[in-house]
Amino acid sequence: MKRNGFCIWLTGLSGAGKTTISKKLIEYLKEDRFIEAMDGDEIRKGLSRDLGFSKADRNEHNRRVIFCTKLLVRNGVIVNVALISPYRETRAYAKEEIPNMIEVFVKAPLETCIERDPKGLYEKALAGEIKQFTGIDDPYEEPLEPDLIVETHKETVEESVQKILDKAKELGYL
Ligand code: ADP
Repeated sequence: MKRNGFCIWLTGLSGAGKTTISKKLIEYLKEDRFIEAMDGDEIRKGLSRDLGFSKADRNEHNRRVIFCTKLLVRNGVIVNVALISPYRETRAYAKEEIPNMIEVFVKAPLETCIERDPKGLYEKALAGEIKQFTGIDDPYEEPLEPDLIVETHKETVEESVQKILDKAKELGYL
């Protein structure tokens, strides 16, 4: 049976929990669907390895992900995008291009992200060793009307994952 693809687009600060949530979602969904992950950090090692963190480069990085996601979704694949995607305009473009996209704001206060610092990047950014780090010396434009907000400083990973699955069901994608 052919099934419609859709996209779960996770946006939020570094350390907000995008990758963690994405891994759990994929574990759950891969049982009976084709699902692909588009993790920003991973894509920067391959498809976007020539790009940095200027606004133009971030937008180009996002544009490449949007292009690939669109191809997969229209062929019935579920695509889980985990990208900081700091600019509203880029996310609006994603929504125009990608069929059945659910924009999920993975929200945690900057202080929480700094405390977690899972990759040790905030420490470096605060010490000035990394420039153009989102939330420190580069902007993050919070979504104004996301389809869903998960608050990872208040919810468990399982709760956030469940909320996303419920939203996908409510929209008729699952
Ligand atoms: P991102 O992909 O957004 O940069 P990561 O998923 O790599 O973030 O890191 C998030 C960190 O926060 C992980 O160390 C994770 O274990 C922790 N964490 C604590 N509570 C939560 C939660 N409710 N949801 C997601 N991550 C959480």
